[in-house]
Amino acid sequence: MKEIALTRSIPVRYEADVAVIGGGIAGVCAACSAARSGAKVVLCENFAVVGGNMTTGGVTKFCGETAGQGEVFDEIIEGLLSFGAIDSYHPYGSRYDPARKPEAGDGRLIDTELLSFVLQEILLKRGVKLLLHTRFVDLIMHGNTIAAAIVCGASGSEAVTASHYIDCTGEAQVACRAGFGSMKGRDVDGLQLPMSFKLYIEEMDEGGTMIPDGWIDPILRDEDLPMTSPNRTLYPGRRAVKIKIPLFDSTDTESMSEAEMQGRRRAIQIVEYFNRAKGEHWRVSRFSPRIGIREGRRIIGDYTLTLPDLRAACTFEDAVARGVYYLDGHKPDDHGRTYILSEEERYVPPYQIPFRSLIARDGDNLFMAGRCFSADQAALSSARVSTTCAMMGQAAGIGAAIAADRRLSSHAVDGREVRRVVEKRNGALEV
Ligand SMILES: Cc1cc2nc3c(=O)[nH]c(=O)nc-3n(C[C@H](O)[C@H](O)[C@H](O)COP(=O)(O)OP(=O)(O)OC[C@H]3O[C@@H](n4cnc5c(N)ncnc54)[C@H](O)[C@@H]3O)c2cc1C
Repeated sequence: MKEIALTRSIPVRYEADVAVIGGGIAGVCAACSAARSGAKVVLCENFAVVGGNMTTGGVTKFCGETAGQGEVFDEIIEGLLSFGAIDSYHPYGSRYDPARKPEAGDGRLIDTELLSFVLQEILLKRGVKLLLHTRFVDLIMHGNTIAAAIVCGASGSEAVTASHYIDCTGEAQVACRAGFGSMKGRDVDGLQLPMSFKLYIEEMDEGGTMIPDGWIDPILRDEDLPMTSPNRTLYPGRRAVKIKIPLFDSTDTESMSEAEMQGRRRAIQIVEYFNRAKGEHWRVSRFSPRIGIREGRRIIGDYTLTLPDLRAACTFEDAVARGVYYLDGHKPDDHGRTYILSEEERYVPPYQIPFRSLIARDGDNLFMAGRCFSADQAALSSARVSTTCAMMGQAAGIGAAIAADRRLSSHAVDGREVRRVVEKRNGALEV
């Protein structure tokens, strides 16, 4: 590929203690908890709203345990409850747990639109400088230390400087630009957990979305349908449909573009198939603004959480988050309802996540949380749910604020101290 060099000066518009890149559930919780610890925090989000997969990706349910995830998550739940935008609490019980209690559930339905509002208001209440439509594009490095993040928003290219940074992009964009080690996909061929496209549909008395002549080919047989899950939502008459879109790479520009386009095509084909072949009456009411991404890049941390850690329910002195969800790994190389593991293999007991898996191994001032934390693909397939990402975010925010306040390298933060703060802030870590 040809290359060109670009040299120019840009303004340093924001100076902070902690800069969080990526405003998904992990980034929001990281920013709020760093601010709660007294840090001056900037959060840069590429889209017009925060929430990531949980808002722009169209996910409709907090999976896992919604109690004891820490005070930021508690505030999110309270906010949603006050709008009547979340269903009632039940304790978590894995659907693959042979000892599951009858009253247990595996998550709580939420109103995605109101979530984006609640998240932004919580950030503002905590004094976080929230930059929307602001994409992180590059870094200035001093050795292994990030000196500035270059972002591009409505005003053009500008720099954000901070003592410490938290990569919550899911795709490990910050670590990647820094040249720090990362992992992607399964060991054998690098294929990531598949993406899924989400859309909302509404039931009509008659009619529904059809494909007019000359557009795209319809699906003609059940066997040609990709894995499609028409999920319940909080509201009767409204479904959230999830369609598996495998074999695309969320870290490649062209592949991401293809995935988005295929997602929308599949969506139309499937709704028209429900209507034509099954005699139903569904209208596409809204496509998610972006495809849902389960796995991007995972940053290599001071510790990498693995499947054997989960199976053995390993405990860590520096445990700062807890995962309770099953191993939800869809097979990456076909479009059917297929999983990497058999049903018997999917259960894992509650497990701990050490603070070291939120510290980038190769840098001096980079933490991470959410989908890009340091884990193998199987461990990620469980820890990627929103509740666990939120808990990781809270811990990374606490750690980054401590490091910024005491001018410490990220590796010098005592994970046991972070753990004590997590516990004080309603984070349940027992397994
Ligand atoms: C199809 C699907 C269904 C799922 N179902 C459920 C479910 O039912 N329940 C559940 O709990 N979990 C579910 N999950 C998992 C969960 O939604 C996500 O794993 C979790 O929300 C990830 O949070 P995150 O903050 O780590 O990443 P993300 O939500 O991906 O957030 C990353 C954010 O970073 C931003 N960003 C990326 N690059 C840049 C950049 N360069 N500059 C600025 N901003 C950037 C993105 O715009 C995004 O907002 C599902 C996931 C998928 C894909």
